[in-house]
Amino acid sequence: MNIYLDNAATTALDARVLDAMLPYLQSEYGNPSSIHGPGRTARLAIEESRKKVATLLDCAPAEIFFTSCGTESTNTILNGAVDSLGCSHIITSPIEHHATLFTAENIAKIKGVALLFVKHHNDGTIDLDDFQRCLSQCPQHKTLVSFMHANNEIGTINQIELIGEYCAAHGAFFHSDMVQTVGHKSISLKQTPVHFASASAHKFHGPKGTGIMYINGSVKILPYIIGGGQERNMRAGTENVAGIVGFASALAFALDDMEAENQHTAILKDYCWKQLLETFPAISLNGNLSEALPRVLNILMPLSEKAEMLQMALDIKGIAISGGSACSSGALGGSHVINHLSKKAGVPLRISFSKWNTTEDVDQLLKAMKEIME
Ligand code: PLP
Repeated sequence: MNIYLDNAATTALDARVLDAMLPYLQSEYGNPSSIHGPGRTARLAIEESRKKVATLLDCAPAEIFFTSCGTESTNTILNGAVDSLGCSHIITSPIEHHATLFTAENIAKIKGVALLFVKHHNDGTIDLDDFQRCLSQCPQHKTLVSFMHANNEIGTINQIELIGEYCAAHGAFFHSDMVQTVGHKSISLKQTPVHFASASAHKFHGPKGTGIMYINGSVKILPYIIGGGQERNMRAGTENVAGIVGFASALAFALDDMEAENQHTAILKDYCWKQLLETFPAISLNGNLSEALPRVLNILMPLSEKAEMLQMALDIKGIAISGGSACSSGALGGSHVINHLSKKAGVPLRISFSKWNTTEDVDQLLKAMKEIME
């Protein structure tokens, strides 16, 4: 049995996306910086992909830059805000992905920037009163705010429109890590008050190792990776042409399928939560059910030896779920998100669905959990 319920960590590549990518891994292997025919073919594929991504996210093609992943995008943006825009203060959240959290902490340590952490409600949403208090402690026009659109561990969605308005009123720059929402929510970057955003193809059935950063046309930052003049001098290094084509293709398919997928995963999540609650009445929910990604369910199992072994025991039975984010799940010590939000001792389990999961998968999960826990 092989059941994959860890789609917030990464997703399977869509076969249609692979088809779109294959020519650029095989016959069309020119370097996009070369001026000859094969080079021009590769260049055209990149620029067509950029236009496609910009259309799908409702922004200008010149505002999209391809990178190697969401983490690189966030590193570039946070460092750029400090080095190029003179930000002396960063406001972020203790439950951000480590791509943001560790980058901000590193910048604070190395560059002497002040770092402020906002408070949260118990469900993981940002306490907007506390955010305004943080903003009032920071200089106008010299502050970067970085909040994720949706949390990768608990799925909670932040009100980035409102947060962006508060930032604008204070003259603060706003970056949103949209790695969990691009490809899963309809997003108009033109209508969303962000200066910067990050996204990653492998979260919506695209290839791993391809990200984008969105930089609003009103701001200019310096590159983080230095070398050649690729990506209009914003990101050096020979482009991952197949990956870029894969990003654009995956985004188009993901948005086509989005409504049906969201309806489908919401049904699975609801079914799974109700079954879990019936079987293990002492569990609780991490996050909330209303303002959250339909595909992410995070529960807290009461602490016990068996619960602590659950993720591993499920793995032995061929069922993949997560104990936290993909990056931290291998490490003991728990999830920084759950540790921050929950006062209760327990074992967090993240079950995350895709359009390819079925109620049968949930039934198998429940059956296996019962066997392990009894
Ligand atoms: N931000 C969030 C919210 C994520 O879920 C992830 C991936 O786990 C990242 C950033 C990092 O993205 P990437 O794997 O493309 O570096």
